[in-house]
Amino acid sequence: MALEGITRHPNLWFEDGNVILIAEDIGFRVYRGVLARQSEVFRDTFQIPQPAAVENDLQDCAIVRLSDDSAEEIAIVLNILYNGGHSFYRTTVQISFDTAAAALRLGSKYRFEEMRREALRRISACYAEDLTKVHIHAEDSSDDSSKCPILWGKEDCIAVFHLARQLSLGGLIPAALYRCANDVSIDQLFQAVASHSRLYILSLQELRDCVQSRADLISENIQRYRMALEMKPDVPCALANSSWWQTSNISCPQAMKNVVASAYRKGRFDGALALSPMDGSQEANTKCHSYCAPCEEYFNTTYTQQRKAIWSRLCNKYRDAHETEQANL
Ligand SMILES: [Zn+2]
Repeated sequence: MALEGITRHPNLWFEDGNVILIAEDIGFRVYRGVLARQSEVFRDTFQIPQPAAVENDLQDCAIVRLSDDSAEEIAIVLNILYNGGHSFYRTTVQISFDTAAAALRLGSKYRFEEMRREALRRISACYAEDLTKVHIHAEDSSDDSSKCPILWGKEDCIAVFHLARQLSLGGLIPAALYRCANDVSIDQLFQAVASHSRLYILSLQELRDCVQSRADLISENIQRYRMALEMKPDVPCALANSSWWQTSNISCPQAMKNVVASAYRKGRFDGALALSPMDGSQEANTKCHSYCAPCEEYFNTTYTQQRKAIWSRLCNKYRDAHETEQANL
């Protein structure tokens, strides 16, 4: 096989390499043994004789054309394998999202098991399935980026959702959708369908689910505002007969409703942040009202249950939709 029109990759062309991988019009000259040791798929590929290069200096090289992969992603994966994957495997080092995404996608496709596991560990840490570990505020992760093992980019949630659907990684889906509803605009979602310059393009079904789940979360957010106003604690308020009560005449439930109403006026229920805390304890304190212990416990329990219910509705409705999509094709 001739290599006309193929550009040699600058860092991934080893003079004594014995296999040439071609993605798009880029050639990567690397070592068979390393690929076969790490990947079941390449191990099987090398069992079958591959066409060799006809060029004089490359006659020992088998040629494997990787037709569906971008050269950019292949370069990322080969750099992990051949040019020191130390930072990729070092847990204290943050890596770029593109690196994690390529390692997850191609690690799954070619069964680079160790690479896939590490990429999934990193992405899962930022898109947790467990509600208690989910970044609740839109700005959480950028504030707290040192805790996230991938460098944070707002638009990455779109790619995470797409990858989760394509690779049947349902655990990533609720957090990815929550972020798609809060961190990116509808325009950005639509661009992710249309743009062919991107590595990850949303399918129409994926776009529909992003838009629908955003609508669901907006409605959940309004709903919890209503529920807060109608809340009737089934515990006696410890302040009810205190001297404080005699002078202020505000019980904890009433104070809570004032806090929620004030949060509403500030627009806290306008968007899709249906999981953000709403106990309003900071605001309550500035109003000189500390909830009594029984009321505070009641509020906390109620909000925790509410958030769990919202989260599980999000999980149940969208996590397993992959099968539905396959069935509709
Ligand atoms: Zn009370």
